[in-house]
Amino acid sequence: MPTITNHMPTAELQALDAAHHMHPFSTQDGFRKKGARVIRSAEGVWLTDSEGHRILDGMAGLWCVNIGYGRTELADVAARQMRELPYYNTFFQTTHVPAIALSAKLAELAPGDLNHVFFAGSGSEANDTNLRMVRHYWSSLGKPEKSVVISRLNAYHGSTLGGASLGGMIPMHEQGGLPIPDIHHIGQPNWWAEGGDMTPEEFGIARARELEAAIEEIGEDRIAAFIAEPFQGAGGVIIPPDSYWPEIKRILEGRDILLIADEVICGFGRTGNWFGSQTLGIQPDIMTIAKGLSSGYQPIGGSIVSSKVAKVLAEDEFNHGYTYSGHPVAAAVALENLRIMEEERVIDHVRDVAAPYLREKWESLTEHPLVGEAKIVGLMGSIALTPDKASRAAFAAPAGTAGFITRERCFANNLIMRHVYDRMIIAPPLVIRPEEIDILIERAWQSLDESMARLK
Ligand code: PLP
Repeated sequence: MPTITNHMPTAELQALDAAHHMHPFSTQDGFRKKGARVIRSAEGVWLTDSEGHRILDGMAGLWCVNIGYGRTELADVAARQMRELPYYNTFFQTTHVPAIALSAKLAELAPGDLNHVFFAGSGSEANDTNLRMVRHYWSSLGKPEKSVVISRLNAYHGSTLGGASLGGMIPMHEQGGLPIPDIHHIGQPNWWAEGGDMTPEEFGIARARELEAAIEEIGEDRIAAFIAEPFQGAGGVIIPPDSYWPEIKRILEGRDILLIADEVICGFGRTGNWFGSQTLGIQPDIMTIAKGLSSGYQPIGGSIVSSKVAKVLAEDEFNHGYTYSGHPVAAAVALENLRIMEEERVIDHVRDVAAPYLREKWESLTEHPLVGEAKIVGLMGSIALTPDKASRAAFAAPAGTAGFITRERCFANNLIMRHVYDRMIIAPPLVIRPEEIDILIERAWQSLDESMARLK
């Protein structure tokens, strides 16, 4: 086998990649035919590929590189930690400083009485933890029959069996015989696609009341929790109507049902606050975290758990944990990431500079003939592509062709923007500057023009 390095010709790297590397959420044949783009290095919001192109990363990797690429402080901390204590676990009456310090820091940042942390290696693992944890919680309280978790269609909660079952992605369910038992899905608050003749506010209330109807149908005595992303990310950056979350709050108030906010995308500044729950004014019992926790520099996730839940769990052994729960290198890097976010006031930058600037530019995309609605909160946004704005029409089947073509045009124009069927989405690094936002919008507009020409 040849030594594989950055200096190899792109075509050879692509051939080896196609031969041996199975890519997530991808059609392997696509790589064989076209080859994957080889990303070589990155700085700030910019990626550089093996051909030397500079690509504006409008997705912060997978919604995770919140402080941007190239922060050598994180590399230094990782190297230091690896030299001192590269690994030890936190099972069986042991602990270490990175896990102690990170859990204490998260307890300080999280709202209300969310002040205990159970670590995992990813968001999916953390949601698996949540599923097991809420069932164990009710069982410990003498109510083992409270095992049903309510979630929403088109939610994304990860790729493990538990995460994918909690999620409401039908194509994922179809490939794996999912969901596992005792997961119930209600509708999503996606007014553009599903709101019919209702106003957004009416629709928000109607969709929230599906939760109430499900509780009545299944019985409160059977329901452990309701899980939701504050703002759906992978489902297409669906920003719910303003009426939605207050109604959900009303429905859960006074009911014995835990609220799990999946903050894997919304957490760590994405919506202009530390957590999306704060942007919405909700107080969950458990929050799922990952991604921006370490800005993607190390794989780490977790569940931030309220005193109420932690107190019950403390009485009994919770037979659950991962080899890498609270991994010292990942925890040290996450802590350094949070230090940088605080010291450089990254969330103030989102709230005061980047988000208002991006909002104005993003909303101006609705002037493009292909764009129906434009939605945005903080630094996560989406546009709906449509052949007819007035009727909010969808493109002729198969859904996603217009989105795919637009994504390809963005890629060719050195902008990473993702599509979810015919919705285009962005979530750039939080440190993006106004002049970089201008470039993002310019390239998006050009790509939409090119896409429209191909769709005719
Ligand atoms: N939850 C949400 C809301 C996510 O967006 C994701 C990933 O995109 C996950 C969970 C799963 O996280 P991971 O890919 O780290 O397992």
